[in-house]
Amino acid sequence: MFTLCLDIGGTKVAAGLADAEGVLVHTATCPTPAGASAELVWVAVASMIADELRAADGAVRAVGIACSGPIDLNSGNVSPINIASWRGFPLRDRVAATVPGVPVRLGGDGVCMTMGEHWHGAGRGAGFLLGMVVSTGVGGGLVLNGAPYAGRTGNAGHVGHVVVEQNGEPCSCGGRGCVETVAAGPWLVRWARANGWSAPPGAGARELADAAATGNAIAVRAFHRGATALAAMIASVAAVCDLDLVVIGGGVAKSGRLLFDPVRAALADYARLDFLAGLRVVPAELGGDAGLVGAARLAGL
Ligand SMILES: [Zn+2]
Repeated sequence: MFTLCLDIGGTKVAAGLADAEGVLVHTATCPTPAGASAELVWVAVASMIADELRAADGAVRAVGIACSGPIDLNSGNVSPINIASWRGFPLRDRVAATVPGVPVRLGGDGVCMTMGEHWHGAGRGAGFLLGMVVSTGVGGGLVLNGAPYAGRTGNAGHVGHVVVEQNGEPCSCGGRGCVETVAAGPWLVRWARANGWSAPPGAGARELADAAATGNAIAVRAFHRGATALAAMIASVAAVCDLDLVVIGGGVAKSGRLLFDPVRAALADYARLDFLAGLRVVPAELGGDAGLVGAARLAGL
């Protein structure tokens, strides 16, 4: 028997089958038609579910769903910022109607990513873990005292919207100065261009990382600035939650030491309380599969 897992974000929909140990035995992805109507987005998700059910030959015992937020665990409805037509979309009910007779569990994609890394990735053995994804946005989730912490509505761990600049840029959430507006990939690129980085149109965070790796001073400063903002957020969250480990994944984190070295250096400056002395920041290990693995874990709890 398998757990059918889904990871629904603004860029792609991933689906998979996990065995009892959380090993993914089948996965597939498709682009999210993020600008389409609510029903067309659902058709894409339903088609992925149908493919997995066929691959499982009916042997599905539970469904775990990771969805980008905000979500509402009480109603099972989701309103992802990056899927414009899904506002109060009844995702849990739709999935339950599509896969009848088995338990269906919904979680935020940040919590699920963190649960995946905690189960089988870089977070193994951590008691108090913040998992983060730094890519086109900044997402996150918490595992506290070994268990996922979803909060009142399912949205705890939205660390991308920790404010790091009191008079900062307007953010996609409607607020301003969130760490996402400093450290997410498109914002690194925007800052670098505004400060004189000359790159061809369409060049993104990967090209910026390449430029930094070859010593381009503006590119290096852009990463340093983003990393320092991440460290300020991490120090704050670590102080609130008494963390022992932070795992960072996502496209921007793939730049490796370019990001991690300045994050650790700034963290040594910000996180000075004795109980934070052992705080470690490490790269994620599961890549794009973390959300699926965590959704499988969620379904099994
Ligand atoms: Zn925000």
